[in-house]
Amino acid sequence: MTVRSRNRWGWGYEDAVVSDEDAERIASMWGFRPDGLEQPVALEAVRLPASRVAVPPALVDIADASPAARTTHAYGKSYLDVVRGLRGRYDDPPDLVLRPRNEDEVERSLEWASGANVAVIPYGGGTSVVGGVEPRVPERFDGVATLSLAALDQVLEVDPVSRAARIGAGANGPRLEAQLAERGLTMRFYPQSFELSTLGGWIATRAAGHFATGPTRIDDLVESVHAITPSGEWRSRRLPGSGAGPSPDRLLLGSEGTLGVITQAWVRVQPRPERRAGRSVRFPDFMSGADAVRTIVQSGSRPANLRLLDPGEAVGSGAGDGSDAVLVLGFESTGAPVEQELEQALALCREHGGAWADADTSADRRSATSAWRDAFLRMPYVRDALIRLGVMVDTFETAITWERFAPFHEHVLAAAREAIGPSGRVTCRFTHVYADGPAPYYTVVTPVQRGEEAAAWLSFKRAVSDALIAAGGTITHHHAVGRDHRPWYDDQRPAVFAAALKGAKTAVDPHGLLNPGVLID
Ligand SMILES: Cc1cc2nc3c(=O)[nH]c(=O)nc-3n(C[C@H](O)[C@H](O)[C@H](O)COP(=O)(O)OP(=O)(O)OC[C@H]3O[C@@H](n4cnc5c(N)ncnc54)[C@H](O)[C@@H]3O)c2cc1C
Repeated sequence: MTVRSRNRWGWGYEDAVVSDEDAERIASMWGFRPDGLEQPVALEAVRLPASRVAVPPALVDIADASPAARTTHAYGKSYLDVVRGLRGRYDDPPDLVLRPRNEDEVERSLEWASGANVAVIPYGGGTSVVGGVEPRVPERFDGVATLSLAALDQVLEVDPVSRAARIGAGANGPRLEAQLAERGLTMRFYPQSFELSTLGGWIATRAAGHFATGPTRIDDLVESVHAITPSGEWRSRRLPGSGAGPSPDRLLLGSEGTLGVITQAWVRVQPRPERRAGRSVRFPDFMSGADAVRTIVQSGSRPANLRLLDPGEAVGSGAGDGSDAVLVLGFESTGAPVEQELEQALALCREHGGAWADADTSADRRSATSAWRDAFLRMPYVRDALIRLGVMVDTFETAITWERFAPFHEHVLAAAREAIGPSGRVTCRFTHVYADGPAPYYTVVTPVQRGEEAAAWLSFKRAVSDALIAAGGTITHHHAVGRDHRPWYDDQRPAVFAAALKGAKTAVDPHGLLNPGVLID
């Protein structure tokens, strides 16, 4: 088996990073005239603060304090993470990386950390875009250890009768799907970070896959979770549903590494879909498309894909030419025909001014739909190329009910445009759609002066986050809270709920070792 090397400073694997020539081409395609392509600082040239923690003798087999381990676990994958990684700037790397191979070693790692007064950051694929894995912890700790779950990556058991599988928390998307595919099954959970993000990370952040409707959040797929906390084991019963008080799984979903280390979970799986039908529908403007999307989802229809792209987003992803909004509409099933459902949805699109080309046959492989899917998965690599060219690329996402959507969208767009100035672009798409509202996802692309990245990003982040909260949205629909969204999350949540969460934290993690600064102080 070939072992691929992870890119130290940016997204993905070293062998897939965009070449210098392609990066220049991408810049001119986007119409930017950047000031040269920045080369990443080599690992040998990086100056790291000395590790404050001696490798514990009892954990020597799983501990790694090498510069390679400390740098690759120092950041997630946000815009600013990539800028800092590129420049070789690591102010707060973990002192140590621990890679437990089983639950016993997770338990022993927590015991050691508790005795040594070392904070612990659970780490899955490290794809957090909200500072969720960054070892910025209060000074009261004598050090920080990042606890990587990467070795717990097996599908451990499959129950074909109930259609569920017990899977190690460190399994990333391709690893988990490859093992399930051997049995003709799939978890059918595809976030854009699928290549690297893990089951434990998805549960800890309440991630959302790329299907627009139906069971698309990890919440919908989790049957039971097993976590290890400093106060003991947290294991829920496997049940299809339960009304026995507040759900133990619900509390771990979205716990972001603060309540326990998720080691494995039973998740719902299904046969691989066999039938698919889809079209790309053009709308004269984004709002007519939004009306069509609302009508479709409120009719009870649940398309796998119902992704509305504004004209700028459509051109950026290769699904359109920039003159229309584009709705990527798709149905799939494991056996039942889907053509009729597609026809019904298309009829609703027509009522709102939608138009489409007839053919989307298997011969028409390079349809806008498949172009969009390819671009979707390649986008993180392209983003890093733009960052090397001096361009800030960032995204923010939210959700809002339909009756407030139009003014909300105007308000948020205006705030984003004002924050980045006339040389930047803001585009929007719907990632997920519910009967009572959409989850709009905004992408911002703007040139930034070298050296000014942190200041520019912070002022942009503040402006758009303030706008989301002021207009009644959520600070995040699926990117989680981490350290970066904390002030707005504190505004959004009820004060008594914050107190209840703090009570739960105190019970399971009395010394506050787990991911301090995230969700709860
Ligand atoms: C290019 C890109 C695209 C993305 N697309 C999507 C998307 O489509 N949908 C989406 O929802 N998100 C997306 N994200 C955000 C990110 O991928 C998700 O938050 C993902 O769920 C994180 O998983 P991870 O395994 O990488 O977790 P990490 O980044 O390693 O950790 C994230 C948080 O979870 C905690 N954690 C991780 N593993 C465990 C564990 N086993 N036990 C306890 N706590 C744990 C960490 O402490 C941290 O707080 C994207 C990010 C990038 C960079």
